[in-house]
Amino acid sequence: RSAAERFTAANPASRQRWTDARQSLPGGNTRTVLFHDPFPLAFAGGHGAELTDLDGHTYTDFLGEFTAGLFGHSEPRILDAVRRALDGGINLGGHNDLEQRLAALLTQRFGLGLVRFTNSGTEANLMALATAVEYTRRRKVLVFRGGYHGGVLTFGEKPGPLTVPHEWVLADYNDLAGTRERIRENAGDLAAVLVEPMLGSGGAIPADPGFLEMLREEASAAKALLIFDEVMTSRLPRPAPTPDLMTLGKYLGGGMSFGAFGGRADIMAYFDPTRNGHLSHAGTFNNNVLTMSAGVAALSEVLTDAALADLNARGDRLRTALNELFAREGVSMHASGLGSILNLHFVTGPIHRVEDAAAADARLRQLLFLHLVHHGFWIAQRGLIALSLPITDADCDRLVTAIQGFIAEYREVL
Ligand code: PLP
Repeated sequence: RSAAERFTAANPASRQRWTDARQSLPGGNTRTVLFHDPFPLAFAGGHGAELTDLDGHTYTDFLGEFTAGLFGHSEPRILDAVRRALDGGINLGGHNDLEQRLAALLTQRFGLGLVRFTNSGTEANLMALATAVEYTRRRKVLVFRGGYHGGVLTFGEKPGPLTVPHEWVLADYNDLAGTRERIRENAGDLAAVLVEPMLGSGGAIPADPGFLEMLREEASAAKALLIFDEVMTSRLPRPAPTPDLMTLGKYLGGGMSFGAFGGRADIMAYFDPTRNGHLSHAGTFNNNVLTMSAGVAALSEVLTDAALADLNARGDRLRTALNELFAREGVSMHASGLGSILNLHFVTGPIHRVEDAAAADARLRQLLFLHLVHHGFWIAQRGLIALSLPITDADCDRLVTAIQGFIAEYREVL
């Protein structure tokens, strides 16, 4: 309670904004994940890896906009590209010269046959599923409990974002035998297996060795499509099996609204408007010049292979340092994830299943979050950390020190 009181006392402007927002937005909210008790912090701006809130406090941004903010808040080459696009006129109502350049950068980077743009990862998933239903002439989709599409999010029994239009079959992530059985039971009706190569919002839980390979084999045997939701994980080293379709989002639009789905050319060709009976996928902003220009600059000028490898290596070092700290201090805490995506948990690792992490006391997560906010670090309330390019090793060291301070202050409840 005292941590919440301290937060309230320190953030009168954020509190007032929330009160005002509640007049016209349900609960003052238009992005569910941004809510946290006692009221959500609001920002005035950001530069590099630094955020400033409405009350003038500054934070090192370890959330990186849930992975969409990979380039930080003011990458000059991306800003230049967006400014050029703004000066050239936006919303042209026709094709522009940038969309095929971004498409080519994506097909090369991810080994896709063909790709289409959307405005968000959510839309990309909906389109990929609609495509699978059309291609297979079947209706069922297998998703994972506790995953982004599993109907219930891991941290509370809240409806997931894709619960409406399909017949869902639920399986448990990293349960090889059980998932195989589910696929075989539904083989004749299954349009797709939709899976994150690492559970993101479910707690940064990587796939166990062999799990994705099993999904590849079983999906092929069932003549269902394997769809990788890489909206969050596309910054990580590529998983071994090749899916039939892949969905993308977040940073790949250079920080602008972005989503894409793509994969096998024979499937994506369903959208070719020169073909008889083709599928329609409109979308006013699918090729908007701001996203296209930011994406092209980000992928062709900023995100070199070396820069991405560095970012993921920095995340690996941070995860190791945190888990060494937790072992040294003898506390039930664990940093999960891969590369530059981490999640802090209040259980002893390693974590293979969603249930392994669910046992933790949610109040401890809240306490850590408020402690880090107080000390000038911004992470997700649920413990997610996503590094961005402007974050340095020294920033990571300071975060480890702040978490060490948290352990010292609250040792009796950990
Ligand atoms: N899929 C996964 C795995 C995600 O983590 C997210 C985003 O949080 C989405 C899809 C949805 O993407 P967007 O927020 O762009 O709609």
